[in-house]
Amino acid sequence: MLLGQLERMNGEAVPGDAEMARHVTGKILHLIQTQEKTKKEMTAKGSSGMEVILAALENMQDLQTVLNILCILNELVSVGGGNRVGVLVSKGGTAILLQLLLSASKDVPPSEELMLQLHSILAKVGPKDKKFGVKARVNGALNITVNLLKQNLQNQKLLLPCLQVLRVYSSNTVNAVSLGKNGVVELLFKIIGPYSKKNTSIQKVVLDTLTVLLKSKANSRRAVDRTYVPALLTIYQDWHRNDTRHRHAHIRKGILGCIRNVTNIKLGRKAFLDADGMRILYSTSTECLPVRTLDPLVNTSSLIMRKCFPKNRLPVPTIKSVFQYRLPHVPAEGPVAQLYRQPPEVDDVVDESDDNDDADTENDTENEEDDRDCCLQNDDIETDLNKLRPGEQASRTMEELRMYERFFSELSEDFQGYHFHGSSPCQTPSLPSKSLSRIVVPTAPDMTPSDSNLVQLECADRALDQRPGEGLEQALVRELGRVALDGGAAPNGQRPAAESEVEREDDCSSHSSGDQAVLEVPDTAALLPLHDPELYVEMVKDTRSVPQYSEVAYPDYFGHIAPTYREHIVERLYGVQRSKIFQDIERMIHPNDILDKVVYDLDLQSCPVVDDGECLKFNSLFESGNLRKAVQVRKFEYDLILNSDINSNHYHQWFYFEVSSMRAGTPYRFNIINCEKSNSQFNYGMQVLMYSVREAINGRPCWVRTGTDICYYKNHFSRSSIAAGGQKGKSYYTMTFTVTFQHKDDVCYFAYHYPYTYSTLKMHLQKLEALRTPQIYLRQDVLCETLGGNSCPLLTITAMPQSTSNDQICQFRNRPYVFLTARVHPGETNASWVMKGTLEFLMGTGPVAQSLREAYIFKIVPMLNPDGVVNGNHRCSLSGEDLNRQWQRPNPDLHPTIFHAKGLLQYLSALQRVPLVYCDYHGHSRKKNVFMYGCSIKETVWQTDVNATSSDLHEDLGYRTLPKILSQIAPAFSMASCSFVVEKSKESTARVVVWREIGVQKSYTMESTLCGCDQGKYKGLQIGTRELEEMGAQFCVALLRLKRLSSPLEVRHASHFLEAEGDLIETSCRNTSSTTYVLKEDEPSFMEEVDYSAESDEETDPQENPGDEEHLSDSEAVQQHPFT
Ligand SMILES: [Zn+2]
Repeated sequence: MLLGQLERMNGEAVPGDAEMARHVTGKILHLIQTQEKTKKEMTAKGSSGMEVILAALENMQDLQTVLNILCILNELVSVGGGNRVGVLVSKGGTAILLQLLLSASKDVPPSEELMLQLHSILAKVGPKDKKFGVKARVNGALNITVNLLKQNLQNQKLLLPCLQVLRVYSSNTVNAVSLGKNGVVELLFKIIGPYSKKNTSIQKVVLDTLTVLLKSKANSRRAVDRTYVPALLTIYQDWHRNDTRHRHAHIRKGILGCIRNVTNIKLGRKAFLDADGMRILYSTSTECLPVRTLDPLVNTSSLIMRKCFPKNRLPVPTIKSVFQYRLPHVPAEGPVAQLYRQPPEVDDVVDESDDNDDADTENDTENEEDDRDCCLQNDDIETDLNKLRPGEQASRTMEELRMYERFFSELSEDFQGYHFHGSSPCQTPSLPSKSLSRIVVPTAPDMTPSDSNLVQLECADRALDQRPGEGLEQALVRELGRVALDGGAAPNGQRPAAESEVEREDDCSSHSSGDQAVLEVPDTAALLPLHDPELYVEMVKDTRSVPQYSEVAYPDYFGHIAPTYREHIVERLYGVQRSKIFQDIERMIHPNDILDKVVYDLDLQSCPVVDDGECLKFNSLFESGNLRKAVQVRKFEYDLILNSDINSNHYHQWFYFEVSSMRAGTPYRFNIINCEKSNSQFNYGMQVLMYSVREAINGRPCWVRTGTDICYYKNHFSRSSIAAGGQKGKSYYTMTFTVTFQHKDDVCYFAYHYPYTYSTLKMHLQKLEALRTPQIYLRQDVLCETLGGNSCPLLTITAMPQSTSNDQICQFRNRPYVFLTARVHPGETNASWVMKGTLEFLMGTGPVAQSLREAYIFKIVPMLNPDGVVNGNHRCSLSGEDLNRQWQRPNPDLHPTIFHAKGLLQYLSALQRVPLVYCDYHGHSRKKNVFMYGCSIKETVWQTDVNATSSDLHEDLGYRTLPKILSQIAPAFSMASCSFVVEKSKESTARVVVWREIGVQKSYTMESTLCGCDQGKYKGLQIGTRELEEMGAQFCVALLRLKRLSSPLEVRHASHFLEAEGDLIETSCRNTSSTTYVLKEDEPSFMEEVDYSAESDEETDPQENPGDEEHLSDSEAVQQHPFT
């Protein structure tokens, strides 16, 4: 009824009776204040109440009436949350209110009550109206509020709503810049003050507003110029000291919010450091640590301190690899040419993370972030259908391919004259005659220098010297530093001179006399049928390394048996990362507590081997080793730097090194400080691997998962943008772990994953010969020599024909090929363990293995990158390139293994014998489980929606069969992680090239986790060599099932598989997202992607926006785009 009256009044051309309007609006206000029902009615759906009131607000001139209406609105929006505000906004309320603000501001002086009511409504409306910032600016409201504030700094009542509105204005970046120009930053600084129990809500709003304003770099500069950074720190300390009962943590957090944003600019960081901000935040946070509710303060403080921690270059002369390898020719535009063209000072790190782009800030446009996000999504998916269709390629001519004929003698073999139950026709590579040559075992220098350190190990009977009065094991452990080749102790170009001096000295030192005992080293052959230490050493002798390694690491010598117990994925403890970071910050605050003692350094001519009994000893001058430098920073803490891949300046991830001279029972902290990936499975339960020589001697030769307090985070070391290949200077990451050694003076080894050296492969291949039975056709060839002078083995495995009858020979020759490769990426040692499982299965005597051999001819290149493996690279070959990006145009000189592996495939293709299956084994460091990448045109097109005609594409779904079978039989395998999308960045990988150019429809990359499984039988467990080998065997079983599925005679038996496949086809058609396509990196940005500042609450450091990060994914990582 009253509303009706009001509506009529709105309709009157000349606003009539002011008294009447006052009366009516007053009545309504009264009703609303007293009856909840009325409120509901006025904002209910279909009610025109809000419109009528807003219309009245537009029309009425009388101050009292307007105030009444504003009170009505205030009443309406202050209860019931956002819904009613939403109604107000949707009816155009914002504009009406802002108009009213504008006209009211023209009164001199403006009505205080009106302004108060208006601002308190606007404060509620603003956050609900996405366009509020723009509307306010367009209506000129910003200055009105600012002026009002300036005139009413003492007016507490008016201050609060004005500040609240200002806070909403400021969230628009253009407004923030404009408000800053109008002196708002300075204005707000007049309001914030030292600790006080009064007006805390005003303080909080001021701080929040200031925080938002300081997101603008221009405003931050203004704040720095006005010396507000020390002021903020002082105020923070004051609140910290006085707010003893933590009633005002939100205000403290507000102050930190301001500091956090100011320090986004370089000047701000400088001001923070100059004001002793590190020490202040460090000590306040330390005091906050025991109170869990103050965690947000600690986390924000930590974030600020890490940001302000001055960026340093790594403590190495250059980040280029210590070892260089001279290439036969250096392609002018290749990565190696680029690398060596860089000026020597290139590594120097300049704090270049901001300020250069400051000029833009004044023109900040709205929603710029939204724009940036949307185009990222699909830009790596191949959308050019021609590139998705198999076929086009300039293959080599048959004439050029004829050189591969000799690798396919199974196609011409007629087995004439072969006696089928006699000996094998295949040449067994001659085993080296049992060498009785002595193996000299120089050890890590002993604690007491006068002692003899040189022990001679007679390989034939594995004897070693022992001093009297000493336990045998002790003697061995004490004495054995590492095994070296006979004569290997002689210094060579790369070998640190100091070490050889030590050895020479030892040579001369006299034995302390007494009887010598002979110790039986446990025969690992009994435990490990395919391992033979003696044979291993023989293999090492022919292995060529750039540093000319002459030592052998124990684990490779003794071998490894998977432990019998389960190794669980470890749960990450709360606060670990924070406490590690605090320890790092302490280094800056108390520099005198830091030892900074270099204990290992390959860059020095004479690598210091400090032997004062106060530090650990390090070594990694052995195959696959790659430690470059070790620095003792605290008594039980070491910073470690990994060497880059040869002829490169990055790719640090794989590690393998030896540690000795340890104490027992003391936790040692190790920090690998030049990791590069922005995240790691070390943040999700993965542990490092450790091998104890003493345990090995005690009969437990095992790599075991170990380490506590493991975490991975961005540190304060950085490289320049030029060194980083044109990207912005990038920070390194620290991988930290703590180990408490069980035995004193043990010799222990640490590795990123279970080592599997090239020499191990050669030994393994020789041992496989011994498994040969008359039913097995096994041939080993050398595919080619590598750049580094190692040979790349090629295996052919199938079943012998049952007789020389035509049928049998014909069946033999016509078996489909299965082509397998592995270890193109040296750091992915798990791929070799999977390959080991495959090879041993193929050489097995069981009926399944025999059927499998009868079904296929296997061509296997078990190690595509022997040089990378030997030299401790993580990703590249000696050419400094990722070989799995060279398949499109491999260069015979620079990428011989790829050139010839592709040649084999091209040869088969020319013979019309395209393999049924191709699979390249890899390891994945950022995902769990084992899974496959395949190639499908349809699934690629589905991902992009670019091409509307995609539904016309015809494609056989057979590419899904093998992974599907694997998901049914292999416990570690996860179908959900598979993807069949062809990415542009992967167009030169083996998988894509073999699919597109050779025409293998079932062309895959099989990725095995380095961490563990989160599904299936092994859920919650870290992966071990047993599971990896099992995976390799299951792959074989799956191939046999694949065969049966495709064989018409056996369809009936396999019907359940076909059904399964039918289901699969259906689901895959319905639900394209069953294929997980992930941006750039292979690790999905899913549940476990943590912000590197993992424990901060809702905070995110603007510098840490994952969108900006160049993620190096694993096996098939996007190549770093040097100029993007
Ligand atoms: Zn890989």
